[in-house]
Amino acid sequence: MTTDRVVYMDNNATTRVAPEVIEAMMPYLTTWYGNPSSMHTFGGQVRHAIEKARGQVATLIGAQPEEITFTSCGTESDNTAILSALENDVRRRQVVTTRIEHPAVLGLCKVLQRRGYHIEYCPVNNRGQVCTDALARMITDETAIVSVMWANNETGNVLPVHEIADLAHAHGALVHTDAVQAVGKLPINLARSNIDFLSLSGHKLHAPKGIGALYVRRGVPLNQYLIGGHQEFGRRAGTENVPGIVALGKAAELAQAHLDEERTRVAELRDVLESGILGACPDSRVNGNPPNRLPNTTNISFYYVEGEAILLHLNEFGVAASSGSACTSGSLEPSHVLRAMGVPEIGLHGSIRFSLCRYNTRGEVDYVIARLPPIITELRAISPYGRQARGE
Ligand code: PLP
Repeated sequence: MTTDRVVYMDNNATTRVAPEVIEAMMPYLTTWYGNPSSMHTFGGQVRHAIEKARGQVATLIGAQPEEITFTSCGTESDNTAILSALENDVRRRQVVTTRIEHPAVLGLCKVLQRRGYHIEYCPVNNRGQVCTDALARMITDETAIVSVMWANNETGNVLPVHEIADLAHAHGALVHTDAVQAVGKLPINLARSNIDFLSLSGHKLHAPKGIGALYVRRGVPLNQYLIGGHQEFGRRAGTENVPGIVALGKAAELAQAHLDEERTRVAELRDVLESGILGACPDSRVNGNPPNRLPNTTNISFYYVEGEAILLHLNEFGVAASSGSACTSGSLEPSHVLRAMGVPEIGLHGSIRFSLCRYNTRGEVDYVIARLPPIITELRAISPYGRQARGE
């Protein structure tokens, strides 16, 4: 980096831990370090803190506290829900999902396929919208679970999870949604919903890494994924990550308080950023479905350039963004999400995701709008794609 300035616009990869969250969790690293299963005061105080956090998380998504199980991350929640559905009804050996899920779902599905399960992947159109007619045809009385994300991490697209849940229930299948990107950014009220399982992750909403939760609708059976002690009412073994749980509770409370800001100020910042970039960079296109996206996310393809080269140049100016999914970066394979959407080859390699949060400012947005266009021009001048486009 050639600057001390940091402009962090990679919040779908992970978020800064909120200062209030750090303050809330600290006593559970210092003073209240007891094991919540212990009988003494240290244990009791800690147990009380866990139950408070369970209530805070439940409130954010309109659930009952007893419907929340703490896990280690979004990935564990996703795995637990899908495996539980298959184990609880061994006659049903099919999972229906989409081509644009996170690897936490797609990776598991690949393993399940090797174990003899039948997996159906629903296609999406060029805006990343799920074809619900195709999905309806895939769901049968063999389907154990339909797993469809609430919002996509790369494009921010919001999927019609409630409509899909009705289709699944008509065949007696359970419904899981990976809401890791949606929770804290969109209002969610599970009390008026037909979803059976919902996954969320602390580090996407200003809590630390290593804490997540799984919502399991009352009455829906849950098979333990981690087997051992009787923590979490026998639903998830292992001594609880108490500071993480307290942090997630506080982060959920803050997310609730900032929900309107997310949909107004953060969305406006994203829109200014997006239109500023599109206006200054010819041959750039938004990927996804702008009318129905997360308020903080824009995914833009810059034709004739490599996304990784753009990221490296942005990094020189202290700007953190992402190309494809952070979890799959490190490999230059184009994003499976953009591929599933049929993004043309010239746009597939040069896509950048900017994902904002409540800590971003208008000054930061203007800074990126000023720095990015010369980077694109410079890279196009030297890129083989750029020369190809100019017929050289
Ligand atoms: N699902 C989605 C949509 C995500 O974006 C991520 C993380 O990027 C995950 C699941 C995995 O969450 P975690 O990192 O908490 O395992």
